[in-house]
Formats: sequence, C-alpha cells, structure tokens
Amino acid sequence: MNLLFRTGLALGLWTLALSAWAQGEERFSTWTFGAQKTQRGGPCDVYMFKSNDHAEKVVDNILRSAGMGFGKRNFQVVECPRTDNCYATIINGVRYIVYDNSFLKLVEDRTHTDWAAISIMAHEIGHHILGHTSDGMGSRPDKELQADYFSGFVVHNLGGSLEEAQIAIRVLQGEEGDASHPPRRDRLATIEKGWREADSFYPRLVKNSSSPTPPPAPEIVKNEPKPEPPKTETRTGCIDGNCDDGEGVYINRKTLERYEGEWQESRPHGFGIQFYANGKKKYEGEFANGKFDGNGTLWLSNGNIYTGDFKTGTVHGKGVLLYANGDRYMGEFRNGQRHGQGKYVYAGGRQEVVYYVNDARRKAE
Ligand SMILES: [Zn+2]
Repeated sequence: MNLLFRTGLALGLWTLALSAWAQGEERFSTWTFGAQKTQRGGPCDVYMFKSNDHAEKVVDNILRSAGMGFGKRNFQVVECPRTDNCYATIINGVRYIVYDNSFLKLVEDRTHTDWAAISIMAHEIGHHILGHTSDGMGSRPDKELQADYFSGFVVHNLGGSLEEAQIAIRVLQGEEGDASHPPRRDRLATIEKGWREADSFYPRLVKNSSSPTPPPAPEIVKNEPKPEPPKTETRTGCIDGNCDDGEGVYINRKTLERYEGEWQESRPHGFGIQFYANGKKKYEGEFANGKFDGNGTLWLSNGNIYTGDFKTGTVHGKGVLLYANGDRYMGEFRNGQRHGQGKYVYAGGRQEVVYYVNDARRKAE
C-alpha cells in the first residue's frame, strides 16, 4: 500500500502487545526535544525528527559492543512521534531505524528497566546489520530469531543480564507466533543463545565464592578501645566530568541525590538522569536551567510514575500518570496537578473520559 517496507513488523507485534494497555496514549505524547524537521519523503507520515543525543549514544554503544565502531553505521536513526513503534526499514535505498521515543519510554516503564528499550533497538539494528532489510521480503521467523540472537549478544556486552536481555520479549510479546514471528519461547531461547555466545567470548567476572576465607582475627583479651571506623563520607559536588558546561556527574550535598547528564552555565541543561539518594532512578529526561523541563519520566517515591511534559521543574502539559495500583491517567496536567481532559483507565481495563480542575474531578462534558 505504500513504499514502506517494515521489517519491524516485529514491532508491529510490540505495538499489538502494548495496545490494550497503551491505547490512546500516543495522542498525548508531545515530543519536542531536538525537534528539527528533516527531509520529506522519509519514513514518518507527519513529522520526522533527528534522533536525540541519548538515542544516538545508545545506537553507538550497540554497534561498538558488536565490534562495529564509529563509521560502520549503514543506517540513519530518526524519530517519528506517535508511531508507537520501533522498526528497521529501507526507503529509496536508505536504511532507517525509526523509533518513537514515547513508545520506548512506555516500554521502559512497563518493564521497569531501560534494558527493554535497548534490546528492542539492538534487535532492529540487527536486522540492518544482518542484511534483512535489503531483500524486500519483510519479517520472517528465521530473520526474527537472528535479530533476537544479535540482541542477546549485544545486551550481554553492554553489561545486561540474561533476564534483562529477555525482559522485553517476556513482557511484551504474546505466547503464540504467527507467519512472521516465532513463538515467545523460541525467541527467549534464541536471545539466551546469543547472550551465552557473548559470555563465552567475554565472560563476566564473577566473584570467586570458593576463595579461602581469611583466618579469624586473634581475640582481643584486653578491653581495648575499638578504633573508630573510618568515616565513609559520600563524596558530594561535581564528582566526574564537567558540571559547568558539558557532561558531568554531581551529587547534591544536602539531598545526596545524584545527577548525571548535560550541563550549561553550571546547571543541568539538556538530557540527564537524576537518582534518589538510595540509588533508584528519580527522573530521566530533559532539563532546562537546572529544572525538569521538556519531556521526561518521573518516578515518584510513592510508586507512581509519570511520563510526559514538564515545565520549570513540575509536571505540566500532557502525559501519562501510572499509579502504583495499576490505574493510569492519560491527559492534561497543570502545575503538578491533573488539570484538563484525560482518560482514566482502571487496572482492570475499564476506562472513562475524565475532566479535572486543579486535581479535583469534574463531570465530563
Ligand atoms: Zn524484528
């Protein structure tokens, strides 16, 4: 029906698996980061953006981990918002990896790890590297397994566990296969083969549990004062890189929260990740002048997760709020509160159109 040949029917499947859950969400994804319209005639129906720096780094790392460093890339990476997908394609002889950032964020939220999105990206890159997109034949089970193998191999070399290599398939792919895709158990087994193959080349350093235990310390008979344990003060401030202009890692002296990312004029600005003092992720996304601003995901301490728009440090715009109980609200926010129209979906699947004013529910029109 069109020129698009989508090997990423695999990700057609991602979409199917997610759709019951994510239905309607794309309507609310407003992606603006690095929004530079590129040429017409590309893979996107409406807008096409240059991929953002974070995605570029992920792609570079995937290639390097497979022994294909810079300069070996034979495809372009572009973002098509609102496509709810990630796929490999070839158009007029140009190879593309097309992704929807909001979709990948949803994948991450659903699996609670960014390894899921990385493994999906690796799978799609695998299609290009293995020449699958050149034959005009689309997805077939054997190609899918080859790309899965590649993905397992890559995730291992990037430091992911076998479970992390498999989680996207485990969570998102249905049990049964079809004409283009193998059943889930085959895909899991193939990812495991790829992961183990990489492990045979580059084994993980595992702590040697059979190392001899040191002899017990001689008992102190006299009641000598015990030496004070050395103070394990956490280093704070800028602990790595450049926290003025560039990329740096900074630990807040008071909150002990950690920020890793881009800086401008000594403030977080650009893409970054913030962690709670306990090491758990707090926010990942765009910053401006030291504040959450743009598109991002916020993991609240109460277990709720918000993905969407931020403005000057607070939730503002359109987004999805996933409650810890499995309910979710997809819609409009203002100054950190639900405000405007949205859709409320209960964990059981029932959904209704809702309308909020300053976080108070109003009857929908
Ligand atoms: Zn595929």
